[in-house]
Amino acid sequence: MIIDLRSDTVTLPSPAMREAMYRAEVGDDVYGEDPTINRLQELAAERTGKEAALFVPTGTMGNTASVLAHAGRGEAVMIGDQSHIYRYEVGGASTLGGSPMYVIPTDENGMLDLHKIETGISDGSDEHAAPTALLCIENTHNRCGGTVLNLEQIAALAELAQAHNVKVHMDGARIFNAATALGVPVSALVQKVDSMMFCLSKGLSAPVGSMVVGSREFIHKAHRMRKLLGGGMRQAGVIAAAGIVALEQMVDRLVEDHEHCKQLAYGLADYPQIEIDVERVVTNIVNFSVRNAQQQRLTHEETLQFLAKAQEHGVLMGTMGEGTIRAVTHYGLATEDIQTALHGIRRALIDMQL
Ligand SMILES: *Cc1c(COP(=O)(O)O)cnc(C)c1O
Repeated sequence: MIIDLRSDTVTLPSPAMREAMYRAEVGDDVYGEDPTINRLQELAAERTGKEAALFVPTGTMGNTASVLAHAGRGEAVMIGDQSHIYRYEVGGASTLGGSPMYVIPTDENGMLDLHKIETGISDGSDEHAAPTALLCIENTHNRCGGTVLNLEQIAALAELAQAHNVKVHMDGARIFNAATALGVPVSALVQKVDSMMFCLSKGLSAPVGSMVVGSREFIHKAHRMRKLLGGGMRQAGVIAAAGIVALEQMVDRLVEDHEHCKQLAYGLADYPQIEIDVERVVTNIVNFSVRNAQQQRLTHEETLQFLAKAQEHGVLMGTMGEGTIRAVTHYGLATEDIQTALHGIRRALIDMQL
């Protein structure tokens, strides 16, 4: 049996989701007539405390539609260099929207420097610079290892942007993990931002789908952008039905994923070859690296060999580059599975003579 820690996207739909999908009432959503999608959108808006919501097939489409809705051609989007939107979404804001991306460094906890934001914002008075329309933030932060922005940090970012007439979009692919870690409702985390995307298809375990939330006016624009991107779907209530189950049944159990991740992180910290900062493991993602007997971090090549060895011992993990390995806990894993994974990793270390 393989324990798959590559991502929380490998989760399989729960039995309740299968049942809901089978029974879903559907209609043509391009006419706005799919009752299940409409119910999911109402539920998402309600849970996040926003006026309206839009169902999209992927997080990437949700972020792209949001960015296109906020920033017009020639208007700049300010973004962190480690952000998913910048690194993994094919440059949509620029390639599709004609928006230059103004990139600032992301700190190791996923936070952006307020001073760099302030000095980077252009109000359009200088004809040399593209006026800034949007600031994008990410919570939890994927590349930083599932780190969380707290209410004070979000308020500081949003208030600064607002003071300069800049909108804020939150890539909240794992916002429910952030809310769980902080012990606050999601609505509190998104209250000060103009829009937010979250994934149903990650920790919440739905097979497909993400949501965009914001004001009614913003969602109207995002809806048009979804059409532009080819995301107008028909009887997609069959997948939205699983999304409703995700929101109603899969949020409270995220705490289990976080406990498993801590268990994994503490277990890894016991191995002298492993370099890990347990304090930074606050949600369901753990980043770590492996050192050899000379205390050198494994090269990318060696990291791939280590991952292949771990796979031989029944554990799948991924790499983030530069010798960083990533493991993610999720629905479908039990406490015993974490122990089994730790044994597999230990055997891979022994095999590699590390
Ligand atoms: C997964 C992810 C996305 C994109 O979601 P897809 O459904 O894979 O397109 C966006 N942002 C973050 C932080 C993610 O982890």
